[in-house]
Amino acid sequence: MSTVYDLSFDELAERLAAWGEPAFRARQVWTQLWKRGATYEEMSDVSQALRERLTAALPIGVEVLDERTADRGATRKALLKLGGTHVIEAVLMGYRDRVTVCVSSQAGCAMGCTFCATGQMGLRNNLTAGEIAAQVVWARRETRKLPATTPQRLGNVVFMGMGEPLANERHVFGALAKLTDRGGFGMGARHVTVSTVGIAPGIGRLASAHPQVGLAVSFHAASDELRDQLVPPNRRFPLAALEEAIAAWRSATRRRPSIEWALIDHVNDTVEQAELLAPIARRLHAHVNLIPLNPTPGYPVVGSPPARIRTFVTVLERAGVNVTVRDTRGRDIDAACGQLALAAVGR
Ligand code: SAH
Ligand code: SF4
Repeated sequence: MSTVYDLSFDELAERLAAWGEPAFRARQVWTQLWKRGATYEEMSDVSQALRERLTAALPIGVEVLDERTADRGATRKALLKLGGTHVIEAVLMGYRDRVTVCVSSQAGCAMGCTFCATGQMGLRNNLTAGEIAAQVVWARRETRKLPATTPQRLGNVVFMGMGEPLANERHVFGALAKLTDRGGFGMGARHVTVSTVGIAPGIGRLASAHPQVGLAVSFHAASDELRDQLVPPNRRFPLAALEEAIAAWRSATRRRPSIEWALIDHVNDTVEQAELLAPIARRLHAHVNLIPLNPTPGYPVVGSPPARIRTFVTVLERAGVNVTVRDTRGRDIDAACGQLALAAVGR
């Protein structure tokens, strides 16, 4: 099984034509699938027989295995089975002024960041472009269930769920193309942010392929010695190479990058690390997003207490760095996915 969201419009039209459907049918089904985010059952303008045929031959491919809510229903975390096999998490977050979905790019992750729950499980599978896009379509549907205090319109997409987007580049770029297709889902690229552990060459290709898409880079350390330990891909793309790639991305896109930093008690929340981070952030004109580490089973250290966070912030601010401390959404439902999703949007 796969998902209908992997098909292009022409491929869908070919399938429907082969079934003897009139030419207008493809546009009708396409619009329902992408613009409305409708499931086949919801397509009241399509005959029962065709809906059954579509369900069997071209499944939507999004099965909700489990769903939890927090923040009085404004945070909704779903365990989704995509394409009949890949199990991932997606988190929908409703705020007063916007709704953001945090999507996964892989089932698991091979990057091995020590403090990350996804890293601790290793890589199971890459998701297809359609499976990634299908999560956003699910979110558009799900947005209708949010409390009346939030807008009923999905505003932002962040790639901060499971997986490393630039380690599944072809499919992630494919998903970006699908999501920003004006004849389809029609999301503005400026409302999409890719978060990466720092695959330097991929950052360059992102700038060329999708210059409007936002970039967040997970630093977590500002010396190679510490970053090698926390974020193993640093051994391949050390800080100097990473900074160079982000600087090039910035000149190509004319956008402000984000630096993500999970504050870990007495590990990376020291004055020394803040002092090393400040000049990098300044040179990149980056916005620094701090978040206290969310504890995970496989990593013994906890998030920084408020006093240490304050000191860290003060060092950065005195150096003229743009910095925000974010809260974790849905901590009580263990929304490990999307922990930094607050950070990259809505500024
Ligand atoms: N692989 C990409 C995107 C997914 S992770 C990346 O690493 O950027 C999304 C964000 O959550 C990253 O900034 C990641 O470092 C952060 N993160 C992972 N585990 C965390 C934890 N236990 N507490 C807080 N943030 C965490
Ligand atoms: Fe993968 Fe990102 Fe987790 Fe690192 S932080 S293991 S890159 S998902």
